[in-house]
Amino acid sequence: MTDVRVRFAPSPTGMFHVGGARSALFNWALAEQSGGRFVLRIEDTDAARNRPEWTAGIISALAWIGISGDSPYFEGPYFQSAYEAQHREAAALLRKDGRAYHCTCTREDVKARTGSEHQGYDGHCRDLGLTEGALRFRTPDEGVTVVEDALRGTVEFPNDAMEDFVIARGDGSPLFVLANVVDDVEMRITHVVRGEEHFSNTPKQQLLWRALGHTPPIWAHLPVIVNEKRQKLSKRRDKVALESYRDEGYLAEAMVNYLMLLGWGPGDDREIMPWSDMVPLFSLKNVNLSPAFFDEKKLRAFNGEYIRALPLDIFIDRCAPWLDPAWDRETFTRVAELAQTRVAVLSEITANVDFLFLPEPIHDQPSWDKAMKPGAADILSGYASRLETVNWDPESLKTALEEVGAEHGLKLGKAQAPVRVAITGRTVGLPLFESIEVLGRERTLDRLHTALAKLS
Ligand code: GLU
Repeated sequence: MTDVRVRFAPSPTGMFHVGGARSALFNWALAEQSGGRFVLRIEDTDAARNRPEWTAGIISALAWIGISGDSPYFEGPYFQSAYEAQHREAAALLRKDGRAYHCTCTREDVKARTGSEHQGYDGHCRDLGLTEGALRFRTPDEGVTVVEDALRGTVEFPNDAMEDFVIARGDGSPLFVLANVVDDVEMRITHVVRGEEHFSNTPKQQLLWRALGHTPPIWAHLPVIVNEKRQKLSKRRDKVALESYRDEGYLAEAMVNYLMLLGWGPGDDREIMPWSDMVPLFSLKNVNLSPAFFDEKKLRAFNGEYIRALPLDIFIDRCAPWLDPAWDRETFTRVAELAQTRVAVLSEITANVDFLFLPEPIHDQPSWDKAMKPGAADILSGYASRLETVNWDPESLKTALEEVGAEHGLKLGKAQAPVRVAITGRTVGLPLFESIEVLGRERTLDRLHTALAKLS
């Protein structure tokens, strides 16, 4: 078997899309399982739309999901713009062989001749022997171009429906369709695994591979990723940037696991599985053609599972970016285990524990209004007086509130609401009595009295 050489070839024209990350991971799995190479090629030839910060974003986002030069399977990054001489050379070769010809027709010329805007190029300049103008590839007039796609099987494209397509502009600069093939040829790529949107380029690219004297690679075009309305994920409508998930506190392991399941599965009903278990099982043959639903709720659930599976000390370390450095680490450690079972993404940590560190809890008005019903003041003052003397452990703190509630005909759940909001500012959060224990007697009493003052 030839050595597997796959590539990921993003254009740095925006934030790094989760669909791109899925393509990268599928390629990465192929490289790793075969001991092959994964080539990162930044397709940066569209100077008007490329920005260096997007290139940097791609590289750092890939590193976040484990794809980087730290691995022996990684090669690059290469920058397409550095290979323009090779692209021009290939164009010149095709021109010399008669596989490509110059053409000076404008769109208007073609329209005037064919009477339609939608008509493909009519081949007008094919045999004029022009020496300037855009360069067009001479497609066969008859027969079919047969593309073998690892997911779709054999697909035939009738050649008479394929126009003589442009491979270089009038100034000699190469177009995507050519540059992409020349680089894949030069980099000895064996498998082109990419998004479905490139499937329509494939017959043209396959003709170019052959015209340049090479055997085409194995093609695989991955299914589109859709949102809950079954619309293709779009950066205008959906949260698609990998970085935004990272910055919100998704764990890379959970993200990788989830992305791998967008179109692929291990063949049984397992879902949560580490990268090292997925790699040997991964196969293009098991990639499904139907659109893959990017289910943010499911991703959140995955992430929650991964968070809960972290050893406590690692969880504490991972929380660091969401904790103010001024907040006492010792105090956080005391509630970390409680928090770990309650958050689905790490950014939720902040709102769960800030009440322990801020001088006053942040009272949001809707929570306050919801909890501070008539009778709330009686609960708060009754509880405050018990807390002066109660034993400072969760069990005793709970019993005390149960008793105060009972005096006012309230079950514990109802009696808890005003106390929780007075102390934490919120209607939901960590277990109340453990929270009070950590907050301490003096500060708890302060908060109950502040709330009482506010109520009167
Ligand atoms: N630069 C192309 C893109 O980002 C990649 C095409 C390919 O993978 O062949 O869509």
